[in-house]
Amino acid sequence: MVANIVEVFSSFQGEGLFVGQPQLFIRLGGCNLHCSYCDTTNAQKPVKTARIETKPFSRKFITVRNSISAEQLLDYVNKCISQYPFYHAISLTGGEPLMQSAFLGEFSHRLHRFHKMPILLETNGTLPENLKEIINLIDIVSMDIKIPIQKEESLRSLRLCGDKAYIKIVVCADTPERDLSTACRLVAKVNRNIPVILQPVSPVRRGIRAPSVDKLFRIYHLFRKHLQDVRIIPQVHRVMKWL
Ligand code: SF4
Repeated sequence: MVANIVEVFSSFQGEGLFVGQPQLFIRLGGCNLHCSYCDTTNAQKPVKTARIETKPFSRKFITVRNSISAEQLLDYVNKCISQYPFYHAISLTGGEPLMQSAFLGEFSHRLHRFHKMPILLETNGTLPENLKEIINLIDIVSMDIKIPIQKEESLRSLRLCGDKAYIKIVVCADTPERDLSTACRLVAKVNRNIPVILQPVSPVRRGIRAPSVDKLFRIYHLFRKHLQDVRIIPQVHRVMKWL
């Protein structure tokens, strides 16, 4: 089985609950959404070549033609794990990794035969059928709730994840507070203890504006009324220029 891969590299997690942890990132090509604030537009569509870091954290890359087989990817991952012992997890990111769920199933199954390394899946939460295929092989799910919400899909995805999930919600200056309130109620309906990260948008291009401090604080207090663990965390890798 083969996949369209954009890049494979080691870095520190810059978003969500595990900010600052060293992870091995596998970015897959293709996404089913077109968020206005997307900061990985290069991964919205399949790409011809992948860039693969030559050694963990070296930031030197070679170019490899797509598609890439599960064996090729496993060889590379095994090499990285043997060279760097401190990975917190392997992060499957995108794009939307669940667009290639069959490949992820095979890859994760084979990886778990050799390593106890946790697998973290980053997903926009809109493909519950694909998630269902592989959720047993995934250890942590970083699930976005995108505004406007696809309520049914988000709800089904969240229920499938059980206690493996934490939620990220990107907040822009113009994100309607009514929609954020709906997202909050949706999470509370499933489990009040799921950690929720409110992530002020990074102004990646013209027209994308971060929310005011007043708005962020207001939303925080709204969420906190219904949920136990709510945090405001920006994209640390952008602040630190780890890109
Ligand atoms: S879901 Fe993620 S990768 Fe897809 S368009 Fe939105 S921000 Fe970009």
